[in-house]
Amino acid sequence: MVERFLRYVKYDTQSAENSPTYPSTEKQKELGRQLAYELRELSLQDASIDGYGYVTATLPANIQRTTPTIGFIAHMDTSPEVSGRDVKPQIHENYSGNDIILPGDNTQILRASENPELAKKTGNGIITSDGTTLLGADDKAGVAEIVDAVHYLTTHPEVEHGRIKVAFTPDEEVGKGVEHFDTRKFGAQYAYTLDGETLGEVENETFSADSVQVTFRGVPFHPGYALGRLVNSIKIASTFVEKLPKDRDSPETTEKMEGYVHPYIIQGGVESTRVKFIIRDFEDDGLRRREETLRGIAEETVRIYPKSNFTLETEESYRNMKHVLDKYPEVVEKATVAVRMAGLQPKLHSIRGGTDGARLCYMGLPTPNLATGGHNFHSKLEWISIQDMKKAAEIIVNLVKLWSKAAE
Ligand SMILES: [Zn+2]
Repeated sequence: MVERFLRYVKYDTQSAENSPTYPSTEKQKELGRQLAYELRELSLQDASIDGYGYVTATLPANIQRTTPTIGFIAHMDTSPEVSGRDVKPQIHENYSGNDIILPGDNTQILRASENPELAKKTGNGIITSDGTTLLGADDKAGVAEIVDAVHYLTTHPEVEHGRIKVAFTPDEEVGKGVEHFDTRKFGAQYAYTLDGETLGEVENETFSADSVQVTFRGVPFHPGYALGRLVNSIKIASTFVEKLPKDRDSPETTEKMEGYVHPYIIQGGVESTRVKFIIRDFEDDGLRRREETLRGIAEETVRIYPKSNFTLETEESYRNMKHVLDKYPEVVEKATVAVRMAGLQPKLHSIRGGTDGARLCYMGLPTPNLATGGHNFHSKLEWISIQDMKKAAEIIVNLVKLWSKAAE
């Protein structure tokens, strides 16, 4: 598995924001073609990559009774935030517990004091980049772990299993991982993404998310003759932003189960200025309340500027996957049992963000997220323990065993 992982991270599969193509970068397909080839080598006959870059394959059941078809999904792309080109993975054997100075850039230091999970891994083999790029454990660790679990199942025919589906997807990091994914064609009843961090965590809850655009309109006028006539929308929007809560309801002032409103783009001129927000809450009601709060502040603002007005448009991004997963409790329950079978303490975890699984849940495929063992995603200080990768693959095999006993 380590050999596979080291090979996968050397493929530059960085995705790109605002690309007109799908996948957003063509180079992701190079790894996709390689993975399809490797899955066929593992005797998953139908392994293939489609025009969107989705790699899918089927491991047929080796039992007669009908059990649910279970999918395992990981993403091939890496974050646009940090380069994933010429990744030079470093293996730190038998980790001592000290800080790790990355050899390609000695200002990149993985400090045990700042990485409590790392501090627990003394004696493990730790993989990092050389400090000049990200590592790509997010999510090539998930990919390698799934391939490894499939390899185990194909070389251990005595392990009973139902029909298993595998999918590797592009463009997760730009929020489009499942945009063209055909859940019906995929044919799994339930699935698991492997895209989380600390081993043992089972992520069954995400934010619910919308984007909101507030557009202010003023009255443009020649500035030389504008007395009493000009209403400048830049000033309206500035007043509006100034009135936003500062000590609460913001990403920088919230944690755990608290939601927020977050302006992230402001664009405009004298005539009109728009402020774009993402809004987040674990409850859908909370999301609506936040939208109304923004509307209230916008109303208050335009009252200060005569002849100005605003429009507020909301677009749904994704919804908390817990609403769906709660209807199929055995999906998360089996994940916690599989973790326990691997000798670890399962922990349900909520994500202050979304996952492809959250979207899949609303596309008819209930999909919680499992940990890969990777840490410090989207950073040059990304790391993963070899022992944790093996455990993650073991958890996948445990899940397969558990589902082989389930009635369809
Ligand atoms: Zn990821």
